[in-house]
Amino acid sequence: MSEYRQNVVTREWVIIAPERRGRPHEVSLTFTLPELKEYDPNCPFCPGGVSEHEHTIYELKEAGKWVLRVVPNKYAPCSEAGTPHRRIDGNFVSISGYGIAEVVIESRKHNKTLATYSLHEIENILTAYLVRYRELTKLHPKIDLVTIFRNYGPLAGTSLLHPHSQIIATPIVPAGLRNSFYEARRYCDAFGTCVVCDYIKHELDLGTRIILCNEHFVVLEPFAARMPFETWIVPLRHHAGFDLRDDELPALATAISTTFRKLHKLMHQPSYNLIIKTAPVGQENVEHLHWYIEILVRTAGPAGFELGSGIYINPIPPEEAASLLRDIVT
Ligand SMILES: [Zn+2]
Ligand SMILES: [Zn+2]
Repeated sequence: MSEYRQNVVTREWVIIAPERRGRPHEVSLTFTLPELKEYDPNCPFCPGGVSEHEHTIYELKEAGKWVLRVVPNKYAPCSEAGTPHRRIDGNFVSISGYGIAEVVIESRKHNKTLATYSLHEIENILTAYLVRYRELTKLHPKIDLVTIFRNYGPLAGTSLLHPHSQIIATPIVPAGLRNSFYEARRYCDAFGTCVVCDYIKHELDLGTRIILCNEHFVVLEPFAARMPFETWIVPLRHHAGFDLRDDELPALATAISTTFRKLHKLMHQPSYNLIIKTAPVGQENVEHLHWYIEILVRTAGPAGFELGSGIYINPIPPEEAASLLRDIVT
C-alpha cells in the first residue's frame, strides 16, 4: 500500500509507492558514465586549459601549483553589471540580471569524484565554499540568497565533466524556499524550537533512516524522501546560515566522503545534485532556520504529476534505501 508522507521541514507531500518499482525505467540502480582520464587537453578546467587565463577569484595552492580555483562562471545567468532594483510595469516585476555566479574548480585532476577525493581534498572544497559564502553574504548588500551546488552526471544537468561546483548569488528568494522558511518560522512560533533540530532528534531516536552519524553531522534518508536515495547531511549544531567551525569541517568531509563512497558503490556513478540549503542573507543567526546539505540522486526527471502537483512519487521507501546504504562497507 502506498503512503502519503509530509516533510515536516519543507511541508511538502510525497507519495511513497513501492508497488511502482516494477514500472519500466522507473528506478535503475546502474549508471554508466564514460571512464575519464586524469587529464583532458580539451577541457577548459584542466591545468593549462583556457580558464587558467581568466581572473582567479580564490585559489588554494600546494607545492607551488593550484589545487583548487574559484573563477567567474563564463555562462553565468546573472552578473554584477546588472542593477538589483526592481522594475515595475503594471503588475509585472522584473530585475536586470544582477547577481554573482562562480565556479569552484575542485581539482587539477579531470576524473576525480566526491567518492574518490581524499578527505584533505574535500576539506579544501568546503573551505572554498565557506570563504566564498562568507564574502558573498557580507560584501554584497543587495544579495538575498547564496546557493552552493554541485551537479554530477548526465541526468543532473552537468555540461562539463571536470569536477566542479557552482555558486550563484541572487537578489531574490524564490517563492518555494520562502514558503519553507515561513513554515519553519510558524513551527518555531508554535513549539518554541527549530523544526530541523526536532526532526533530526526524532530520526536519531528511531534510527531506521540513519546512514551514519559522527560527532557533528548526521546523514539520513528523509522520512518524506522525494526520490530514491534522497540524502540529507545535517549539522547537529543549530545554525541557520552555512557555517563550519574548525572542528566541524573534517567531520563534514568524512560524512561527505563516506556517503558518496556508499552511493557510488551501490549505483556505480549515479547522477546527482548536491545543494547546500541555507538561510537567506541577513538571517544567518535566526533560531527557526537550520542549514543542511541535500543530495538528490537523479534516476529520472520529474513527470507531469510531479510538475503539475509538486507531489513526488518515490518507489523506494527511504528506510529501505537507508538500510541498503548502511550495509555498504566503504
Ligand atoms: Zn578537466
Ligand atoms: Zn536547528
